[in-house]
Amino acid sequence: MLDSFSVIGVLFPEAGGEAVSMPAALSLPFAPLRLLLLVAWVYLCLYCVLQVQFGLLVPEKYKTLANIVSLVAGPIVLLSLVIVETARKSRSSRSPFFDLLKQQLRHAVAGLRAMRAAGEQDDAALHLLDSSGRTMDEIYGHGQGKREEARILDLTESIVADALERRASDILIDPTSESTYSIRLRIDGVLRNAQELDAQTCQAVVNSIKAVAGMDISERRRPQDGAFMARQGDRTASFRIASSGTLHGEKLSIRVLNRNAATQTLTDLGLTDKQNGIIQQTLRRPSGMILICGPTGSGKTTTMYAMLNAIDRLTRNVITVEDPIEAMLPQTSQIEINPKAEITFANTLRSVLRQDPNVICVGEIRDEETAEIALRAAQTGHLVLATLHCDSNASAIARLMDLGVSRLLLSLGLNLILSQRLLRCLCPRCRRPAALSDTQIAEFKRKRIDCSGIYEAGRCRHCDGTGYVGRTAISDILIVDEEVKARIAAGESFGATAQGDGNREGRIHLRKQGLKKVVAGVTSLEELKRVVG
Ligand SMILES: [Zn+2]
Repeated sequence: MLDSFSVIGVLFPEAGGEAVSMPAALSLPFAPLRLLLLVAWVYLCLYCVLQVQFGLLVPEKYKTLANIVSLVAGPIVLLSLVIVETARKSRSSRSPFFDLLKQQLRHAVAGLRAMRAAGEQDDAALHLLDSSGRTMDEIYGHGQGKREEARILDLTESIVADALERRASDILIDPTSESTYSIRLRIDGVLRNAQELDAQTCQAVVNSIKAVAGMDISERRRPQDGAFMARQGDRTASFRIASSGTLHGEKLSIRVLNRNAATQTLTDLGLTDKQNGIIQQTLRRPSGMILICGPTGSGKTTTMYAMLNAIDRLTRNVITVEDPIEAMLPQTSQIEINPKAEITFANTLRSVLRQDPNVICVGEIRDEETAEIALRAAQTGHLVLATLHCDSNASAIARLMDLGVSRLLLSLGLNLILSQRLLRCLCPRCRRPAALSDTQIAEFKRKRIDCSGIYEAGRCRHCDGTGYVGRTAISDILIVDEEVKARIAAGESFGATAQGDGNREGRIHLRKQGLKKVVAGVTSLEELKRVVG
């Protein structure tokens, strides 16, 4: 077998061969240049092993062999892989081979840089803090941690750090049997298995999380909730926890609050220019309600924050009532509800109205009282943004009527309804031209849609092997103009059967928008089918 020195000798004869015309540095006893080349070689070998393990190019059954070869001859394997991949791509995309080769080599260099950046980030360790910002050491005093406790705390911190690194929105810790627990992460709306732990270790992890979240450790059956924070370098993240007892033990659901929400803009969401324009125009009006609808995890709160960011908060008094507060917004009074302390949406809204706000944000409309107060405020000179848990614009109106809100109040208060879904975006590094069936191609031709830009998910390290990174919104907007107001007031077309039609119509709108994103290569047909059906 080749060893790395002889490979260097083959590739760089001047480094390994006779030192007749070599630079002076090479004749030093520790040969710095040779050492540097060796380090670079080893680095490239390790990078290549990762590429082989997580890339798609090497079939599963040859992976072990390819890894062994990569360990000693990484750069050669890497170069061959790049050439093979380029040849494959140039066949399917008909771009000139050398342009693609340049692009592929650039990707490989970017991958190497990302690996080094990840290594540097590891230096910034993550620390868990309670809701008042104290670390575990400060809560329990120094020197408390025996070796076992320190190991559990390290494990807990690594679970949280892993979730943040992988952009998870939830961490679910579930007992799967008497002896094992599973830890799953929700990434871009899809649950993925992160790791399995034995019951004893995981219960200790659960206890350390409950301790930092200010929950009662001895209570394992009654549902509890709590909150904690994590600090990594100069960044902090907030978490909300709900616990409940299940058959095999205690289950924790940890929600990672959206740190980026405060900087989201309407353009970031992925709405069309036309929709963006309509929303901006409605936000400039002094009164009326904008209702944001969608099922759980459809990005309603993010859209609400993006709308708030489009409002000039220096000249308008903005007050939000949320459960929980996702992110801090400058120049905004944010109030978090707490039903246990009888701080509910309804009574908080009533007190907020006495503070002369221009814009009120209602985290979620859940009951008749909140709906009524919010709609009355919308009618009396306040711009109200609110979210509602429902499927479509038609079902939003039906849902509010079901809650007991009068048709007249609805028709007078509503300005705009928007229902939305989130589609995962294809990973730009590993997406590949979609293999469409003949029927699909014929169908696209019939609809006169150019399907040459349709891609499907690949698999790479950048996207954690999922093929997707980040999400984009598709939405269906209903402007509540005079005609719609009249229809609502007359109680038309929002009955039980009409609501079914409305839902179907809403889905058609969403699918049309989603298809535009598929054709543009932003997302895949499978993803559109998964989300809209
Ligand atoms: Zn990828």
